[in-house]
Amino acid sequence: MSRIGSHHFHEHYDVIVIGGGHAGTEAALASARMGVKTLLLTHNIETLGQMSCNPAIGGIGKGHLVKEIDALGGAMAIAADRGGIQFRRLNSSKGPAVRATRAQADRVLYKAAIREMLENQPNLHLFQQACDDLIVEQDRVIGVVTQMGLKFAAKTVVLTVGTFLGGQIHIGLENYQGGRAGDPPANNLAKRLRELPLRVDRLKTGTPPRIDARSIDFSVLQEQPGDTPTPIFSFMGDGSDHPQQISCWITHTNEQTHEIIQGGLDRSPMYSGVIEGVGPRYCPSIEDKVMRFADKNSHQIFVEPEGLTTHEVYPNGISTSLPFDVQVQLVRSIRGFENAHITRPGYAIEYDFFDPRDLKQSLETKHIEGLFFAGQINGTTGYEEAGAQGLVAGLNAALQVQGKEAWAPRRDQAYMGVLIDDLSTLGTKEPYRMFTSRAEYRLLLREDNADIRLTEQGRKLGLVDDARWQRFNEKMEAIAQEQQRLRSTWIHKDHAAVDAVNELVKTPITREVSAEDLLRRPEISYAELMKIDALGPALNDPQAAEQVEIQTKYAGYIARQQDEIAKQQRHEQTKLPIPFDYATIKGLSNEVVAKLNAHQPETVGKAARISGITPAAISMLLVHLKKQG
Ligand code: FAD
Repeated sequence: MSRIGSHHFHEHYDVIVIGGGHAGTEAALASARMGVKTLLLTHNIETLGQMSCNPAIGGIGKGHLVKEIDALGGAMAIAADRGGIQFRRLNSSKGPAVRATRAQADRVLYKAAIREMLENQPNLHLFQQACDDLIVEQDRVIGVVTQMGLKFAAKTVVLTVGTFLGGQIHIGLENYQGGRAGDPPANNLAKRLRELPLRVDRLKTGTPPRIDARSIDFSVLQEQPGDTPTPIFSFMGDGSDHPQQISCWITHTNEQTHEIIQGGLDRSPMYSGVIEGVGPRYCPSIEDKVMRFADKNSHQIFVEPEGLTTHEVYPNGISTSLPFDVQVQLVRSIRGFENAHITRPGYAIEYDFFDPRDLKQSLETKHIEGLFFAGQINGTTGYEEAGAQGLVAGLNAALQVQGKEAWAPRRDQAYMGVLIDDLSTLGTKEPYRMFTSRAEYRLLLREDNADIRLTEQGRKLGLVDDARWQRFNEKMEAIAQEQQRLRSTWIHKDHAAVDAVNELVKTPITREVSAEDLLRRPEISYAELMKIDALGPALNDPQAAEQVEIQTKYAGYIARQQDEIAKQQRHEQTKLPIPFDYATIKGLSNEVVAKLNAHQPETVGKAARISGITPAAISMLLVHLKKQG
């Protein structure tokens, strides 16, 4: 116990992370990996890494985030490998930018993997208590207060409390306070945060009822096995830690289901105006889908097992907050669910979130120094979006403690950069989730090259351990050598491989070509080319082989995107002062001044992305900055 001013502190930490969900665990692990003394303060140690909604990690856009978290030494991909019970590579027949990994996870195994990593992380303490208050002095956070009045001093605090702030759970017209089903809300903290100079609003999200698999007729459902060979999430994984693999299943809603839903809308909290928060557009409730797509008489439902040691299944696609009696009827109207027993009712939850435009790219709040926000409280939805922000907030909290400059990935470096830039520049009016279409340089931001984009930076920051660093360098070496070999292998009319090559190509070879030139042709794959005796063998490491193929085939497009990025770079690096009164710049319209004053962008690049900020306004801004020297 020590005393600072009027406060008696139980203990001192460099970084205190509040909340042990997906953002909080990545934040705490990142700051501890960087060697600073970290505390993870959470309601309940048993719920560390708990998946509040569907037990799955990854998917298009989200899988990209998981691989990026992994490249920076994070936990999510490793836990998904240890907990995944059905793995798929989505869009595998499409271009490399949109290919993505997805794993159905066993909730218990996933949580156990996260907890094991937390418990074995040096520099990290866990403590189970609700955080009820933040201690803020002269616009700087200096500590936190727990429910039992215990005070911890902190140089920086990362807040990651998910859907718990002022959480209100709705099932039909019944509602009660809760952080998610089975957990209390964080009302004291919510009240306290509303007193701080931060813009707060309400959002909502929902979850489907869960069903006992023993009451489902699987013989009428369509089976969906995982892929073989089983995809792997982590760069460090080899698949040996994957548990037993099982199938998911598919069924559909029908016209009767839709009639039941329409009949229950007068008791729906969403359609009767009880819920005010805006829900996720891309993960809508079944009542939303039925109303918005009235011409569709069927919607797909993925029947996903919740784990290897439970009978509960998650019917993905029928999230609902209709009254429980309507839930029972609608579920039982679905093929295969005629005798279904619901183990947990579906519900919606409304919660407080903070306007992310009040955050810097480092996820530090603009108004309270040392206070960082990550996860659902910034208006996002999804474990992967939360984990990505947690990692960036945690590493920046640690950098600040170390007296170093903040770092966050740029839009052209990572989906993490796109996510944080979108949030902090544009804000959000509905729960934000990641899509590949949000990235302007998506051919560069692929799942397969997340390690190449970020491992080196992660190593510099102190996030990447020796084993990962060594394996990464071996892979890079193998790629470079193989590219050189292909570039200097020339095939001419007397070459031993020429007949085999001519069988693969559309137009036979008439003059000397390199193996690299051949690989650029769309009809030839690296694997096929390397099967030719005189050209092979292929690289042993399938990840390195994939890189050689993609980098060669898409070299032209990649170079063009890199040129565009180089042109944009100047604006991204030109910093703007904060706080700054834009009315002092002559010639800017009132609208532009109002927008820039409200946003307080950190760079000219960010200013240019705010809607309504014209290229002419940016020119005036640049002239002004030049004058200031
Ligand atoms: P959480 O995972 O919610 O973790 C917050 C943590 O903070 C918890 O451990 C909690 O105990 C702790 N905590 C809270 N307050 C305090 C306090 N005062 N003191 C100490 N600890 C505290 N995502 C999707 O992608 N698709 C969906 O369809 C979807 N549906 C959802 C439905 C529901 C009902 C819910 C609840 C969530 C849903 N989500 C969905 C969102 C997904 O669960 C979250 O995006 C993700 O869990 C956010 O991670 P987080 O770390 O920000 O917060």
